[in-house]
Formats: sequence, C-alpha cells, structure tokens
Amino acid sequence: MAAKVMIPQYQATALEAIPVIAKKVRETFSTHKTKNLEWRLVQLRKLYWAITDLTPQIIEAMHRDLHKSAFESTLAEIDLVKSECMYQIKHLKEFAADEKIKDVPLTYSLMNCRIRKEPLGAALIISAYNYPILLLLAPFVGAIAAGCTVVLKPAEAAPATAMVVVDILSRLDHDAYAVVNGAVPETTALLNEKWDKIFYTGSAQVGTIIAKKAAETLTPVVLELGGRNPAFVTKNADVKLAARRLLWGKAHNAGQVCLSHNYILVEKEVLQPLIDALNASFRDFFPNGAKASPDLSRIINLRQFQRIKKMLDTTKGKIVMGGQTDETELFIEPTAVLVDSMDDSMMVEESFGPIFAIYPVNSLDEALNVANRVHRTPLSLFAFGSKAENKRILNEMTSGGASINDSYMHGSIGANPFGGVGDSGTGAYHGKASFDVFSHARTVTETPGWVEGFLRVRYMPYSWPDLRR
Ligand code: NAD
Repeated sequence: MAAKVMIPQYQATALEAIPVIAKKVRETFSTHKTKNLEWRLVQLRKLYWAITDLTPQIIEAMHRDLHKSAFESTLAEIDLVKSECMYQIKHLKEFAADEKIKDVPLTYSLMNCRIRKEPLGAALIISAYNYPILLLLAPFVGAIAAGCTVVLKPAEAAPATAMVVVDILSRLDHDAYAVVNGAVPETTALLNEKWDKIFYTGSAQVGTIIAKKAAETLTPVVLELGGRNPAFVTKNADVKLAARRLLWGKAHNAGQVCLSHNYILVEKEVLQPLIDALNASFRDFFPNGAKASPDLSRIINLRQFQRIKKMLDTTKGKIVMGGQTDETELFIEPTAVLVDSMDDSMMVEESFGPIFAIYPVNSLDEALNVANRVHRTPLSLFAFGSKAENKRILNEMTSGGASINDSYMHGSIGANPFGGVGDSGTGAYHGKASFDVFSHARTVTETPGWVEGFLRVRYMPYSWPDLRR
C-alpha cells in the first residue's frame, strides 16, 4: 500500500515577518553570492531534485486543491518545470556569457564592446491558482538562472500546493529564496517592499493594482494576464477535429486555463456539424458522464464556482452541450452555449472555467470583426480553417500566442517565449526569455590606452571643418 502523503495545514506568513524576509533576500543579493554560475547550477539541481522527491506530495496537493488528475499534474506542471530546470542547466553558461557587440563603427572596433548579463536583484513572483506549481516555479527557474534572489507568493486559493512549495523551497538556499504565504494583506505587505522585478500571473484587475504599486518605485514588472480568447472555425475546417481539440482545451483543468478559448466563432454552414461533433467528443471523453470522470478537475472554490454559474444563469443563449452543475462538489460540466449577441454574459466575461460560447457568423470577415471588438489583444487565439484563412486570421488579429488547427499547443513547447500582448500581459518567459526577463543587459566598453591616437579627434578644441560654410 502506498504511504500516506502528509501535507501541513495552510499557514499564512505573519505580516510582521514580511519586511524581514524581504530585507534578507535583498541583503543576500548584495553579498554577490548568486552571481556565481556554479552556485546557481547547484540551486537549479536542488530544485529539480526537490520537485522529483516531492512529486507524490505535489500530485496529492493539486488533487486536494483542484481535484486535478495525476496525469495533468505530471504532464502540465511537474514535467514542464523540470524541463525548464534542465533547459537552464544546459544553457546557463551560454546565456550568462558576455555577448560581443558586432557591426560596430571603426573606432569601436578597436575597443572591447560587450553586453554583460547581470541579475536584476531581488525579485517577487506572485502566482495564480490554476497551475499553482507551473506558474510559480517556471518563472522561479528563470530567476535562479539569472542570479536573482527571490520571494515566492503562491496562490492562496490552492493552499495545499502552497504548503508543498514551502517544503520544496526548504531544500534550496534559505538566505536567497523564501516563500510568503497569504492573500491580499500579505501580498500588499510584499508590494510595500522594494523589489528589482515583480513577476505577476493572474487577473488583469489585480495586475493593474500591481503595476500601479510598482510604478511608485519604478519597479519593472512582468504581467501574465488573462483574456477572452477566440477560436475561429470556418466552413473549410475539419470540423470533427476542431471540436475534439477545442473540447480538450476546455476539459483540461476544467477550463481553468488562461489560454483556453472563451468563445468559438463558427461559420453558419458548419454550426450544426460543430455542435454535433462537440457532443460526440464529449461522449468519447466521458463515457460514464463528466461527473464520474476521474480526469475532470473541479472548480477551485465556491467564489469561482458561483462566478461561472452566474455566467450560465444570466446568458440569453441556449445550452447545446453539457450544462450540469453541482455546487456541493464544485462541479461544472464542460458546457457550450449558443449565443447571438456580443453583449451576452458568455461573451463579455472571461470564462476561466469549462464553459464557452458558440457565436455563429456569416463569414470570416464578420468573425474577425467580432473578435477584434470583443478583445483586441487576447492572450491566445485558435484558427481552424484553410491555410489561407488561418494566415489571414494571424494577419488581421493579434494575440499573445496562437495555435493553428489546435487548442493552446503553443503554450507548452517549453523554450518559446510565452506571454501576452496589450492588456493580456507584458513581458514573456520560458527558456531563454526566462533568463532574460530577470537579467539586465549591461553594455560595457573597454578602451585600451593604445587607441588614444585614433581618439585625438574627439577632444576639444574640435578640428572638424565647419560644414555650414
Ligand atoms: P488573481 O489576480 O485573483 O490572483 C493572483 C494572485 O494575486 C494571487 O497570488 C493573489 O493572492 C494575488 N492578489 C489577489 N488580489 C490581490 C490584491 N488586491 N492585491 C495584491 N495581490 C492580490 O488571479 P487568479 O484568480 O488566481 O487567476 C485567474 C486569472 O489569472 C485569470 O484572469 C487568468 O486568465 C489569469 N491567468 C493568466 C495566466 C497567464 O500566464 N497569462 C496564467 C494563469 C492565470
């Protein structure tokens, strides 16, 4: 029998401890110990092995918090963070090496001109609840690699996972890295401290609070926010494939995915085939019904359940797939709602749950027009059409990232930059972008004494001919 996994009771950090913790990581940065590459590699390896050792605890914690399946926890969180670790370990020396500045004017070619990669300093990383390991630890990997000291603020809505994070961090350097647990008061206390970088993942509403607070001290921020993401299904799409892939995108983590589609714009010719195909995929995914499926996560808490339920209660649209809910279990079935207005509750709010709207259109022109009016800069978009149509969609609508003929595959490659655009976010991470986002590119020139002869011309009195004459 498998040993019982113990997870301590959630405990918020005492408010008076927060300035002390912040001071400690700032002071640790000033010791310069995080600048040593070997030291950073040791910390990355420790993180990798802490996650490996504590995998049963992580899986159990995410099951308690979100009813997340071991399959999703492993594939979409644990493995992704571990590959980020491996990627940074593999490339750290190359990323951290000075870059020679090429294509310089003649005078500069006599100097040593280079870009030094320097850690920004003490970083604060604040995470959302839906991927409570990935969204906290993936940026953390970048911060360690870059040589920053860090305070992590896990999402309080996923309390069991937050406590496992405390355990993970206890295996790394205690002076350079710390966890602060808590909700708004604790995060506010953290924001009252001076940071060299704030990396925030969450809602645009709180992102605005973070950005305003950071502006007071000119602290650079990365904001990984949400958005109302469109999917386009044209009459030239493989409709069955589109339905299956889009339903997967909404069933995964019960749609609590910043990247998942909020609504599908479908050409009227293929509306009914799409609805039929969605229902057929639903039956394939959940042969015993969605509620009985061990694979389907639950909504994180009552507040979020009621928010999503309200969208369903206030829609003027018609439910064409799913629709079951159960508050006692925080269960919401993957649900599609056929709507005919952009003002419908299903269109104006980010679903961030397993529900989505289907909005029929007459043409791709109309689809692009609607999508650009609903949200001009969503975090992602999904195009299911002919090659030419997909190209047109990419051309005529922007987004943080895009998947063609699929749901959010672009978000999980690993080493590609991941981030929003406009009001879905600012800044990107993953792979090299993670290293860069916590680094300062410092241009350095070194002028040897022997080039003085060439430099004589720069000194006063200037001896250039006056070209105005
Ligand atoms: P949230 O904004 O409510 O919370 C995120 C973090 O902010 C938490 O750690 C929380 O403690 C803190 N926080 C909340 N209120 C605060 C306040 N008033 N002052 C200071 N800190 C505060 O977000 P959430 O509900 O956890 O996540 C849902 C949102 O996050 C959705 O909009 C989703 O699209 C977005 N999201 C974006 C990404 C991305 O990578 N772009 C990933 C996941 C989620």
